[in-house]
Amino acid sequence: MLTLTSPAHAGRSAGKTDTPNISGQYIYNRFEHLNLETKYQAFPFKAGFFRHATGHNIIATLPCNTQTCGNNLVITAHYDHLGGQPTSYYAGANDNASGTSALLYLAELLNNKTRNRSVTFVATDAEEKGLYGAKYFVSQLKATDIALNINLDMLAPTSKNRVYVLHSKHTSNALSILKTLPKPDFNLRIANSRYKMQRMMDNPRIDWHRASDHYAFAKARIPYIYFGIGEDKNHHTKRDTITAINFERYQLVVNFISDFIVKLLDSPLEATN
Ligand SMILES: [Zn+2]
Repeated sequence: MLTLTSPAHAGRSAGKTDTPNISGQYIYNRFEHLNLETKYQAFPFKAGFFRHATGHNIIATLPCNTQTCGNNLVITAHYDHLGGQPTSYYAGANDNASGTSALLYLAELLNNKTRNRSVTFVATDAEEKGLYGAKYFVSQLKATDIALNINLDMLAPTSKNRVYVLHSKHTSNALSILKTLPKPDFNLRIANSRYKMQRMMDNPRIDWHRASDHYAFAKARIPYIYFGIGEDKNHHTKRDTITAINFERYQLVVNFISDFIVKLLDSPLEATN
């Protein structure tokens, strides 16, 4: 998280250059060092009325390593943020260096675990501009090959210590595995609809069904489970820096999500489909 929020990364703005930016390159190298099959996926997006830009997703794959393999699990986290200059920029620590760092951590962890399906890690670009990276990723594959999307966006709890799980239909088996985990040391709130999630939040302005990359999967009828803290007063301000992050709470959330995914990939396939 330190690297992604550093001045050299200057807020990880999407589409400033036609080649992957320093943040994209950093994520690519991290996946490569783990010996994952890694690639850039370039895509066009509209960066304004007249300007067309190029974004870059980073896609890394861990193959299934059991005898029978189920459909793919796709884990997403957007790495882009609002940009700025090295002297003054939007660090986007919670949004979404927190999710991107968790994605990298999961790639390392799952490398040595049982995987009853192949796992695709996607660090998406241009999410802040309109979920462009996730939309393009989904457009390039057969939706029927994907069992589930797990999307990570803003994982460091505020003082309220809340974490929301918003999920679509056809996730009940995965959720029953989630519910077998020991009760976490944070307030876990599970919502099966945007309305339920809005009722659970103090500030129900955001429609979280549409607010992050999982929406691109939902539109293609791919089931999703979204993890995030939902509301953060520092969201999209220059105060969203690592000094505002409570790393102890963040670590608990990452551990919980990791335990869930490890168990999901190690359970009998018929229980996770
Ligand atoms: Zn975000």
